[in-house]
Amino acid sequence: MIKKIEHLGIAVKSIEATLPIYETLFSAEFYKEEIVESEGVRTAFIRVGESKIELVEATNEDSPIAKFLSKSKGGFHHVAFEVDDLDAELERLAAEGFQLIHQSPKDGADNKRIAFLHPKSTAGLLVELCQEKNDDNEI
Ligand code: ZN
Repeated sequence: MIKKIEHLGIAVKSIEATLPIYETLFSAEFYKEEIVESEGVRTAFIRVGESKIELVEATNEDSPIAKFLSKSKGGFHHVAFEVDDLDAELERLAAEGFQLIHQSPKDGADNKRIAFLHPKSTAGLLVELCQEKNDDNEI
C-alpha cells in the first residue's frame, strides 16, 4: 500500500552551489548528505514542514542524473512514495504492467530501500517507491 509522498527529488548540477538557494527559500538547513554508490548520486535532504526535498547530484558520467542533466537544466526529477511493503508493491505493479527500472529493491539514501518505475509506463512521471529500512526487511 502506498502511504504518502515521501519526498520530491530535484536534480542539480552541484549540491554545494544549490544548498544556499533552498536553505534561504525554505528557511531551513539540509540535515543529511550522502553518496549512493549504486546509483552514482550524491543526495542531500531538507525538511519543508511535513515534506522533504531531496537534491540529487551525479557522481559520475554514467549516473542517471548525469543523463537527465544532459537533456535539461535540472530541476524537478522524481516523486518518491513511501510504501509499507516494497516487495509486495513491486510485485503488484509489475503484474499490472508497469515497467520497473529496478526489479528488486536497492539501497537508497536516508536509510531507505528503493526502486524506480520507468516513466514510459507512468505517463511521464519518474516514480520512486521507498520503504524505511528496519530489522524486519533487512536483506
Ligand atoms: Zn528520491
